[in-house]
Amino acid sequence: MNPPFAQTQALDDIVQQLQGYDPNMLSIDKAQAFISALCESITAEFFLRSDATEVVDLQAAYERTLSQDVYSPMNVPAHTNSAMDGYAFRWRAGASATSALTFKVVHTVLAGQEWAGQLGEGECAKIMTGGVMPDGSDTVAPLELVQATSAHQVSIDTRLFHAGDNRRLCGEDLRSGELALTKGSSLHAAAMGLLASLGLSQVRVWRKLKVAIFSTGSEVLPLGAPFKSGHVFDANRLSLIGLLQGLGLEIVDLGVVRDDPQSLKDTFLKAQSQADVIITSGGVSVGEADYTKAIMKELGEVVFWRIAMRPGRPFALGRLGRCLLFGLPGNPVAVMVTFLALVRPVLLRLSGKAPESPTSLMAHSEMDMRKKPGRTEYQRGLTRLNAQGQLCVALTGNQGSGILSSMVQGDCLIVLDHDQGDVLCGDLIKIWPLKGLL
Ligand code: AMP
Ligand code: MG
Repeated sequence: MNPPFAQTQALDDIVQQLQGYDPNMLSIDKAQAFISALCESITAEFFLRSDATEVVDLQAAYERTLSQDVYSPMNVPAHTNSAMDGYAFRWRAGASATSALTFKVVHTVLAGQEWAGQLGEGECAKIMTGGVMPDGSDTVAPLELVQATSAHQVSIDTRLFHAGDNRRLCGEDLRSGELALTKGSSLHAAAMGLLASLGLSQVRVWRKLKVAIFSTGSEVLPLGAPFKSGHVFDANRLSLIGLLQGLGLEIVDLGVVRDDPQSLKDTFLKAQSQADVIITSGGVSVGEADYTKAIMKELGEVVFWRIAMRPGRPFALGRLGRCLLFGLPGNPVAVMVTFLALVRPVLLRLSGKAPESPTSLMAHSEMDMRKKPGRTEYQRGLTRLNAQGQLCVALTGNQGSGILSSMVQGDCLIVLDHDQGDVLCGDLIKIWPLKGLL
């Protein structure tokens, strides 16, 4: 098992720094401030671990995160070359007024070929896209503006293009030594292509964060078990698997754990020995008749909150040895919302990415909405563009924290901030599009 963090702040110290900290009525802003303070003290140490980074083949680097800046080892393109099939020649002053400049064709340059020769006065070379521009040329005439006047002679109409047109300059994409991608960049399709264009076949990336997950509750049935009256199937773990896969993390799936002290303890210890982060669901509400909270407290340093948010509310945060622990509520929508609002930014940060919140947009409400100031609400919404092309949003229907179908029907979360009161039809309100998050 990893030794505990040496330089991280004690949770009590973080509490001291937060004005108006009340674990039983914590605003989402305070919760986020607390979490990011804890996270900052952990990340420095996290990134210094000997196994914090690894080198991977570019083919396997999709969605990985660069752990260092990448500088271009070469000019891209490496040569000034033709951007089209045509004729390379040297532009002459006054050519833009001339419909017929005559050249002798002295050579043909194919893509991938370099020609040691040089064009003289009155000479041109036939050139294919990607062919290296011959010495003595600076412009390419497109084929459709060129007419053959004899076997080795062409006439070029230079009125419709300009000096220097239709060539790609050496280093115009990236110059040798220039910063190509910054540390923390996600390697998406374009970034992978860019690295390949630099001739790099491997890259150094942050190791994938290992996240252990399990669901708690004696009423929760693992998938595949026969249904029993009074029970529920384990939806949360599958939602979490999807959310974590979307972040490209390594998942340690520890299943469903019954409300039994020994099983819970064993599972927490197993999670702690295998992962960087532990995420559980269920068993953290006030007045729970189960053992989850007691075991968390026994094994580590944990704070239990009631967050002023809906859905959500019960939430546990702490450290078990070198693991960061998130205890999410049990209700399925609450799990997803608290994950997006509070956990996802931390996982991004520990993965070496910028710890951004989901992207916010503003949309016109299509209905009145009741909202009490004093808590942040995350309603499920459906957007559309109205006849004027404005983004509008309506509620999906029943907003209960167990109504998982609302997360499927909706395409956004409507985020009504802590101090916001009732919303009137037509008001501009904040939304988080769910595309790319789920
Ligand atoms: P708890 O926070 O443990 O009191 O759970 C709140 C509600 O969420 C209860 O109705 C639980 O049955 C339900 N619940 C807890 N865990 C899960 C799960 N993994 N999948 C679906 N529902 C759950
Ligand atoms: Mg429970």
